[in-house]
Formats: sequence, structure tokens, C-alpha cells
Amino acid sequence: MADLKGSWSAGAAVEVTDATGRYLGRGFYSPRSSLVCRLLTRADEAVNAGLIRRRLEAALEWRRAAALVTPAYRLCWSEADGLPGLVVDRYGPVSVIQCLTLGMARNADWIREALTAIFPDGRVVRLDDPTAARIEGFDAVRETPSEAELPGGELTIEEGQGRFAVTLGAGQKTGLYLDQRDNRLLTAGLAQGRRVLDAFCYGGGFACHALLAGAERAVLLDSSADALALAGRNLALNGVEARAELRDGNAFDGLRELDAKGERFGLVVLDPPPFTRRKDAVEAAARGYKEINIRGLRLLERGGRLATFSCSHHVTPMMFEEICRQAAGDAGIRTRILATLTQSRDHPVILTIPESRYLTGLLLEST
Ligand code: SAH
Repeated sequence: MADLKGSWSAGAAVEVTDATGRYLGRGFYSPRSSLVCRLLTRADEAVNAGLIRRRLEAALEWRRAAALVTPAYRLCWSEADGLPGLVVDRYGPVSVIQCLTLGMARNADWIREALTAIFPDGRVVRLDDPTAARIEGFDAVRETPSEAELPGGELTIEEGQGRFAVTLGAGQKTGLYLDQRDNRLLTAGLAQGRRVLDAFCYGGGFACHALLAGAERAVLLDSSADALALAGRNLALNGVEARAELRDGNAFDGLRELDAKGERFGLVVLDPPPFTRRKDAVEAAARGYKEINIRGLRLLERGGRLATFSCSHHVTPMMFEEICRQAAGDAGIRTRILATLTQSRDHPVILTIPESRYLTGLLLEST
């Protein structure tokens, strides 16, 4: 049993000791959360603006050394960068802050100050996740950049050979699914001359890259009209819209309809939203993953590839592989694993913090 010392004020820094009173570290106190205190430090140092700034500088330094600083990248990935409850994404000159704990929300000024000091010419926008805010008990702040700051409220950023619109504050995530960047670039290399299916496409990143890399044609599926509108803009930005077809609707049905029509693809991407956020709903989520993977596998031409993903935190890589094995069994399709996939390298995974990995995937080839 650990104990908390200090002011006990919600969102403020507290000291954590073990049952014998020995110092363990400091973190923000979050009374409503099941994780009442996620440690920011194990050293005997103050939790203040200086600590936040040092951590963000270290995060940038590590990414620079690893050549991960690109026009759009994740600068800070919560625990993995020593700042549990804080995500910072960079889109060109704009830093987007996402506070995931009460303490980070209460001390957002420290984060803003640090980012302004590190990137003097940049702008800072805060876009909290409403679900996390509700659980932690604070009001999500979602700023829309003013017209003067960002003409049209929109940025265009480059990713590999592609260009993508980032609508801050209006779309999903902080703007782009940065976690799939590496996988978009990887699968583009398999697309030449192939027909591509981008299911759960959001802004159509997988399809745009595949078409730029010489795919013959792409079908994009999503159930959100806003997502499809964004995908349409991105296809046009990349000059590949003539070879693409956007389809509105539930992907579960869309996949079945394509199969019923006998359509086959050389590359299928299945990148659904999390099917569960709770540990006790993993079985139901597994059934959903199995179902779409059966359908996705059936759409492959011989030698075709399936890039399939789960971003449900509680679905481990081993569980996901087992789900896909069962799907391949039911679909009667023999596949070879070309690669195991995970989140982009700017979302690092800390070995002792398994929760820092949430995106898992497989690249399968029908034999
Ligand atoms: N592949 C994208 C990210 C996908 S996010 C990228 O690389 O950027 C998941 C998408 O699935 C969202 O756009 C959401 O609108 C969509 N979605 C959620 N449920 C769906 C369903 N049942 N059928 C089709 N699309 C769905």
C-alpha cells in the first residue's frame, strides 16, 4: 500500500510514500480516477514548470537523435516520455496539447510556457480528449485556432510523398492518426499495380499513399460523412482522386457487399476504431475483430496482403494474432505473416510500461 502526502488538493502535486513512510516519488493527485497518482518523478525534485520543460526538451532531443522529427509527429507520449497524462503532437509550427489527467489540465499553463520557450515561433492549441476529461473530472478544453493564427483553421502537412489536410479541433484525434504513419508508408510499398481497399479510412491516408505509390485503384470505406469529406480533400490534394471511390456506410456491411460482388484486392487495410476501452469487454471486441478479419481475408486475391490492426488497449499482440488465426481458419485461407506491426516509433513503448503499447497489427499474405 502506498500513501499520499501533501496538500491533497485535486490536481495538485503530492508526495507518494510506501507503508513504512519511505519516499516513492511525486505526481498529480487525481481523486476521481482509478489511478489516483501517476508518478512524474521518482527523484526528490519539485513538480513544477521546470520539470515539465525538461521532460519536453528530452522528448524532443530523443526524437531528433532518432530522426523522428518530421512535419507531423508526436512530441510527447504520456508515460513513455515521463509525462503521464500528457500528449503533445506537432503539426508544422503548431503544438497540439492533449491533457488526459486532472493534474495536467490544471497545470496546462506550465505546458504552454514550455512549448512556447522550446518553439518560439510556433503556436500552441489545446485539444483535450472529452472521454478522458469526463473520467478524470475536468472540463475538456478544445480550442479552435483563430483565423489569424491558422488561415481557414487548417494546415497542410507532408507525410512521405503525400500531403494531408489537418483540421485542428474539428476532426478526430489531434488532427491526424500519427500512430499509423509508419504503417501507411510500409503498406504503400506493397501497393504498386494493385487494387486497394482502405476500410475505416478516416482521412484516407493509407489509400492516398497507396495510390501515390502506383496502386491501380482504391476503394475507401467509412461510416462518418466528415471522414469521407476529409478523405476526398486528401485524395484531391494528392491528385489521385480519379482512381479512388469513396463509400459511405458501416464497414462490416461494406466488406460483405464487396465479397458478394466477387471483388478482390491486392491490398486490404482494416484499421477500425477501438472495439473496447474496458478490460471486461475484450471477448465481445474479439468477436468483432474476428468478424471483420474473416471478411477482409476473403477479399484478398491470391498473393494479396492484409494489413490488419487493433488499437484496443486491452487486446495484446498475442491475443490479436490468435483472433486472426481463427479468422483465417474460418475463412479457409492460408496466410503467411509478413510482419508484425505496431504504432509509429514516435509513440515509443517502454518495456516496463506495457500500457504504452496499444496499437497492434499484422501484415498477412494469402498463399
Ligand atoms: N486509417 C485511418 C484511421 C482510422 S480511424 C488513418 O490512417 O488515418 C477509424 C475510422 O473508422 C474513423 O474514421 C471512423 O469514422 C470509422 N468507423 C468507425 N466505425 C465504423 C464502422 N462501423 N464502419 C465504417 N467506419 C467506421
